[in-house]
Amino acid sequence: MSDMAAEAADDVVPSPVEETPMPPPDDPPPYVPETPPPPPAPDAITWEPYTWYGITYACLTPGCVNENIVKDYSPFYSNNGDPKFCRVVDAADGACGKDCKILTATKLDPQPEVE
Ligand SMILES: [Zn+2]
Repeated sequence: MSDMAAEAADDVVPSPVEETPMPPPDDPPPYVPETPPPPPAPDAITWEPYTWYGITYACLTPGCVNENIVKDYSPFYSNNGDPKFCRVVDAADGACGKDCKILTATKLDPQPEVE
């Protein structure tokens, strides 16, 4: 051990300057129309057969122009009450043409007169 070594240890050694390279600029994300957050998962709907309802529904197809946009429709007929026959197809212009998710169904009171 020498005095010089001890002195050298006391010298303030400038810490090396960390060179932070500038991150490459992010490419701007492609323009995507704003999609609302998905509607809350609906409760299972029990359809009464041959009954008119007012419903709300939304298309949940990713990328569809109608994605997650809640709409309403009335009167909606339950047919025989089988959910297979209680469907809303997203058939608007430019839409995906797939089934929408029915979110709520409220039985109409009074039921509309049907000829
Ligand atoms: Zn759709």
